Amino acid sequence: LAAEKEPHVAFLHSPGLGHIIPLFQFAKHLVLHHQVRVSFLVITTGASAAQNHFLQSETIPPQLQVINIPQTDMTDIITDDMLLLTKLCVMTEESLKPLKSILVELKPKALIIDIFTTQAIDVCEELSIPVYSFFTASPILLAFSLYLPTLDSQVEGEFVDLPGPVEVPGCPPIRTNNLLDQVKNRKNEEYRWYLFHASRISLVAGIFANTWQDLEPVTLEALKENPFFKEISTPPVYTIGPLIKNDEFLTEKDAKIIAWLDNQPTDSVLFINLGSGGTLSSKQLTELAWGLQMSQQRFILVVRKPTDASASGAYFSAGNDENDPSAYLPDGFVEKTQELGLVIPSWAPQVAVLRHESTRAFLSHCGWNSTLESLVHGVPMIAWPLYAEQRMNAALLTEEVGVAMKLVVEPEPEVIGREKVERAVRAMMEGEECKAIRCKARELKESACKILDKGGFSYDLICRVVDTWKS
Ligand code: UDP
Repeated sequence: LAAEKEPHVAFLHSPGLGHIIPLFQFAKHLVLHHQVRVSFLVITTGASAAQNHFLQSETIPPQLQVINIPQTDMTDIITDDMLLLTKLCVMTEESLKPLKSILVELKPKALIIDIFTTQAIDVCEELSIPVYSFFTASPILLAFSLYLPTLDSQVEGEFVDLPGPVEVPGCPPIRTNNLLDQVKNRKNEEYRWYLFHASRISLVAGIFANTWQDLEPVTLEALKENPFFKEISTPPVYTIGPLIKNDEFLTEKDAKIIAWLDNQPTDSVLFINLGSGGTLSSKQLTELAWGLQMSQQRFILVVRKPTDASASGAYFSAGNDENDPSAYLPDGFVEKTQELGLVIPSWAPQVAVLRHESTRAFLSHCGWNSTLESLVHGVPMIAWPLYAEQRMNAALLTEEVGVAMKLVVEPEPEVIGREKVERAVRAMMEGEECKAIRCKARELKESACKILDKGGFSYDLICRVVDTWKS
């Protein structure tokens, strides 16, 4: 029967580009390489302008149907003082009210959810639909999240006041300063939301992790074999990555960026981009700009209007705030650097830049998607984590994996001075000490290559799960 050959599954992402991008890539991958039909449910609120922009830039195969969940009026529910995750979770909870009726109609063989859409587990239980989770961040965050309910019951005060690092069983220790922001103040509503979703991860039938074995072997082994994770009934973790965007549609503006790169020498450009929502304070942006100018290296700098209040200032407007960088970059910066650099307001075709042979290194906020995109292309990184779990990722990349260098050694100053920026940039672009980092990045690129192709490890794991949907 045709229906059995092409099982139909639904996807439900959390708002934000760091979520919708990888879930959509997985959906496309299932359609294009595993004969699965997908209904991709879109939460049309919050980050929706940026999400629409992203979806419009994608080629969508006919077996992938994008369905917008009808938007609800949130004016009385969302308040200005809500922290990022609270806002995101409240919006999501509200948006999921029609989920049951949508799923009754679609009758998918399975639902693939995201970390902040676990309310769907209850709906699916009523409808007898198996639920899988696609974890869009690193396995160390997955392990920490699965351990969080235990930690929550054992620790009285704040985790940041613990005398030593958090020891997730079998995993590399996490220094409390590197913990994700949402667990640094347990009195916040954000913490309660994070704990709520984290404590539900183990209720799913399986977890898809966007990674591959060679990147985080210790943590992946712990998730599989450590008695703690067995005791809490951790579902099977399928390492099905690294899935990244790979067929970006280039706008005219994007094409100009690539044409500029075409005119630069091979392996000579530093790409600076702090994610879809990251912003710097005015002071910090000034220091970054001058440090860059002082380093005398070629660069592409993606900039947003600075925000002094929060480092996630553009989360809900990502890529959507075209503006004039000369209004907030230091006076004379653009003129002084025009021989060497390109300043791009707000958004760049990141994967196309990382893939380009002129790109030598990536100064990144270490979001998980950016990390994978860099590693797949063998590009070493300078780590500049800003918010969420980015400090955990930066520690992993600089201390465990060795594919990134720190911009500054801890403790981080409030504002990183221009000399420090200059030194790190020069070291990464021309220093001897970075040879090992570059080598490791190339090695990982090799190990990631072909893993998603027929016969590759990630490919075979996906086949195993897809087979269960066919019966
Ligand atoms: N991105 C992009 N251009 C930009 C900024 C971001 O294409 O100028 C994409 C990037 O390639 C990645 C995603 O947005 O796929 C950002 O996800 P990540 O997990 O790295 O960070 P987040 O934005 O969630 O902090």
